[in-house]
Amino acid sequence: MARYTGAVCRLCRREGQKLFLKGERCYTNKCALERRAYAPGQHGQGRKKVSEYGKQLRTKQFAKRYYGVLEGQFRTYFEKATKMQGVTGENLLSILESRLDNVAYRLGFGTSRAQARQMVLHGHITVNGKKVNIPSYLVKPGQTVALKEESRSLELVKGIQEATASRPVPKWLDLNKQTSEAKVVALATREDIDLPIEETLIVELYSK
Ligand code: SF4
Repeated sequence: MARYTGAVCRLCRREGQKLFLKGERCYTNKCALERRAYAPGQHGQGRKKVSEYGKQLRTKQFAKRYYGVLEGQFRTYFEKATKMQGVTGENLLSILESRLDNVAYRLGFGTSRAQARQMVLHGHITVNGKKVNIPSYLVKPGQTVALKEESRSLELVKGIQEATASRPVPKWLDLNKQTSEAKVVALATREDIDLPIEETLIVELYSK
């Protein structure tokens, strides 16, 4: 299963916005973007003018990196979004939000999406009571996503839950904090998704 393994703070600096890839560190002044708010590399502090294509490309890259998805899979999600009813850009974001690793992150089962992905891969997450270790699994309304019962007492898991306790859970997920179980009430709509991008730019890019 392919994934990006390079230095993640470089990605935020390239996009000029926080992608929240390093868990709790992202919320402190140790965040690389707080200290070096310019693109990495020799010309990072130089060129500022961005073309229309450049804006579209950066928006797509931002969304891909935010959700930890590589190009091929992102493109597949886009194709799927075009076949759905409604607005393609919003459909795309809704699909990305329903990935199991993102849902685990939203529920506070990981301090970052990368850690939530590890939690899924290591079999700590169940869907409707059955272990699912596929981060790209897409959840559906009516399903129940939970921390596996045996995993709840692990020190690692307790630490994660403590660190994420104050993080708000989106309203499309109904979390019971006592049992670490959540019902998927509905698919996420655009207003549920706190992603600071204009998704129409991604649609324009792929529609060329
Ligand atoms: Fe991005 Fe987090 Fe690194 Fe800050 S600390 S640059 S938000 S990954």
